[in-house]
Parts: sequence; C-alpha cells; structure tokens
Amino acid sequence: MIKAFEKLRDDGISLRRLNIIMFVIALVSSAALLVAMNLTNANYTKTHEMTKKLVGWRKDAYNLQIGSDYLTEEIRSFVVTGEKVHLANYFEEANNTQRREKALATLKEKHGDSAALDDLGAAMSESEHLMDKEYYAARLAIEGFGYDVKDFPVEIRNVVLSEKDRALSNEGKKTAAVAYLFDADYTISKTRINNDINNCLLNLENEIDKKQTEVALALERQVLLEHVLIAVQIIVTLAIVILTRILVFTPLRDCVSRIRKDAVIPLIGAYEVRFLAKNYNMMYYTTKENENKLNFDASHDKLTGLFNRRGYEFFFKNIDMETSALLIIDLDKFKEINDNYGHDKGDEVIKNAAKTIYNSFRTQDYVCRIGGDEFAVIMVRTDPSLEGLITRKINAINEKLAKGEDGLPPISCSVGVAFGHENITASEVFKRADEALYKTKERGRKGVTFYK
Ligand code: GH3
Ligand code: MG
Repeated sequence: MIKAFEKLRDDGISLRRLNIIMFVIALVSSAALLVAMNLTNANYTKTHEMTKKLVGWRKDAYNLQIGSDYLTEEIRSFVVTGEKVHLANYFEEANNTQRREKALATLKEKHGDSAALDDLGAAMSESEHLMDKEYYAARLAIEGFGYDVKDFPVEIRNVVLSEKDRALSNEGKKTAAVAYLFDADYTISKTRINNDINNCLLNLENEIDKKQTEVALALERQVLLEHVLIAVQIIVTLAIVILTRILVFTPLRDCVSRIRKDAVIPLIGAYEVRFLAKNYNMMYYTTKENENKLNFDASHDKLTGLFNRRGYEFFFKNIDMETSALLIIDLDKFKEINDNYGHDKGDEVIKNAAKTIYNSFRTQDYVCRIGGDEFAVIMVRTDPSLEGLITRKINAINEKLAKGEDGLPPISCSVGVAFGHENITASEVFKRADEALYKTKERGRKGVTFYK
C-alpha cells in the first residue's frame, strides 16, 4: 500500500488509469441517479394513485348513504302524500338501482376486507333492517289511503299488521304510518347509518393518511439520495476538470515554455506527461553534453587542457583588452629538449610548463597555449601598477621550471608583457607583447620585458 503510494508520488498517476477510474465513478453515479429519479417518479405516481383511490372509496361510501337517504325520502313521501310513484321509486331503488348494494360491492372489490368495509357493511345491515319498518309503514299507509294491497309488491303484501294497527281507522293508519317513519327509533337508526358511514370514511382517511406518510417519507429519502447523487456528479465533473488541469494542461503548458527557454522540464503531472518530460530531459542532457564536448574540443588544447589558439582568439576578441594585460610566454631553447630527450619528453615538459603557468595566475585570467612552446595569458582588470607582481610571478615560474621536477629536464621561459589602455586595439596589444618577448629573448632569455 505504502509502496504503491510512493510509486504514485514518484511516477504520477497514469492518465489511462485515471480515465478508467473517473469513467467508472461517472457511470455508477449516473446510473444510480437514473434509478433514483425513476424511483422518485414511481413514488409520485403512487401518491397520485393513492389520492385517486381515496376519492373513489369516498364516492362508494357516499353512494350507500345516498341510496339509503333516497329510500327514506321516497317512503316518507309516500306515507305522507299517498302518491304511488314514490313507492314505485322506492322499490326501483331497492330492487333495481341498488345503489347501496353496488356501493358495498365496489368497495369490497376495490379495497378488500378492512375496518372501513366492516363499517359500511354495518351501515348496510342497519339500512336493510330499517326496510322492514318501512314496509310495515307502507302497508299501513296503503290501507289508510284505501288502496288495494294486491297492486303492490310482495314485500308489502307479506307484511302482517299488528292487532292494534289493524283495528285503526284509515286516518289512524295514515297517522301511524307517518309516526313510524318519523319516530325516535327510526331517527336513531338513520343516525346509526350515518355514523357507520362516517366511521367508514374516517377509517379510509386514516389508512390513506398512514400510507401517504409512508410514501412521503420514502419520497423524502429518495429526493435526498437524488441530491447526494447530483452532488457526487458535480464533484466528479469538477474533479475531472481540476485533475485534467493539474495533471495535463498545466504540466504541458510548462513543458512548452521550458522547451522555448531551452531548459529541462520538471517532473510533474500525470505519468504520461512525466514520461515525456523524462525522455525530453534525457535527450536535452545528451544534446547539451555533445554540444559542450564539441565546444570544449574546439577551444581547448588536447595536450595541456589549456585554451588553444582558437579559444585565445575568441577571448581576445571578446574581452575588454583596454583594462587587461597580455603576457606572451615562450619556452627557451625548447628545440634542444626535443633533440636531446625525444619528442615525448618534450610533450611532458610542455605539459608541466603549462600546469606551472596555469597555477600561477588567478582563475579569472585566461591561460592559453597559442603555439608549440608558446603561451598567452590575458590578465583581466590589470594595469601597469601590477608590473612588480607580474615580475614576481614570472620569476617564481622560472624557479619552478629550473628545478626540473619528476625527472623532467630543467627549462626556462621568456615573457613579453603589454598593458591595454584607452584607444588601443587588441592586435596592437599583441604586437607590443610580442615585441617585448623578442626583447627578452634578445637580452639572453629567462625573464620578463614590459613594453614601454
Ligand atoms: P627559442 O628560445 O628561441 O624559442 O628557441 P626554441 O628552440 O624554443 O625555438 P622555437 O620556440 O622557435 O621552437 C619551438 C619548437 O617547439 C619547434 C618545434 O619542434 C617544437 N614543438 C612545437 N610543437 C611541439 C609539440 O607539440 N611537442 C613537442 N615535443 N615539440 C613541439
Ligand atoms: Mg621557444
């Protein structure tokens, strides 16, 4: 785990892997969002259907009441007015229209067995029970109005009047019939029917309320889940944008600007970008190294490692010679060394002399081998006040060369010095130094001459 993390930190995450991870997250969260949205939709539909069902059930319950009330209305009208149409309406409702029976059947079919259905059933029994009383009252009224009972339905014909009622006059029978349908018993029964229907409605509403609360809770959870998933989507989208910026765009832009500036590229961003940067850097180093090597070889002398004639000319052209001094150093009677000790020994003497000269000057000075046994030193920021110092340096060199260290034959050198100053060209300085050197040789070698 730690190793994997370290690898990730060093190499960067691979764009391919990142792409797969992001794709999977986006896919899963999108799928989950779609499912959640569908569920929410289903929940809305469920709520809507629930409301529709409630309205239907209420209608059924009311239909029973309407049927019952209609029967009461018609029978009462008949006993009060004696108009047969009301009794016909009554039986039409009781035997054919049957709103009460149908209402009960529909509720049973749609809603099934429940407390609400029991209440409606109780209302129905009460209503049916009331019908016996109504038949009785109707029979009384028929006799009171002097109609022939044979013209009426069997339910009426089958009614057996009590001894007391049979003995009543026609007027008395009419009054008794009305009294039966308006007395306290009848009213109580009607109230009971109403109460049962109200209880039925109340039960239905409670049921719906409970179900709606459940659905509402589920819906709430659903919406919350949807919000969370939308938040995840937003985070994924932002992460993709930010990561692409951090891992790809910024490092690539950086790459371009570094390449333009001819610099190496820092290893940042995704694995692929780092891979490109690493390879570019390798190529960059190789190219630079080759370039440096070429430059070095072109400007340096192989034998001594000092700047060669080409290097010397470059500096001579580019250094401010007006504030510098030029020293030309030539080994004395070097040909004899070659002749007496051989060319290889001669090379070693040149190498040793080069080292001795190089070590005698400051690092900011330029020490060059400009010919076989000839050297040039450009001493920067140097003026004639340093003549003494230069003389001491040359004397020290000659003392060292005279010792002939490491089995080398002793040798000496002659030096000519010219100082630059205002309005003098570099080639004039060279000419003067060369002239001074010639003077040293003339004077018997091993020494220094300052051009005057
Ligand atoms: P002088 O004191 O007048 O300078 O006498 P000299 O013998 O040093 O004469 P000069 O400077 O003219 O001779 C330089 C000699 O250096 C000539 C050449 O044979 C020899 N030489 C030049 N280049 C090399 C080299 O790379 N290696 C060796 N061993 N000898 C070289
Ligand atoms: Mg010489």
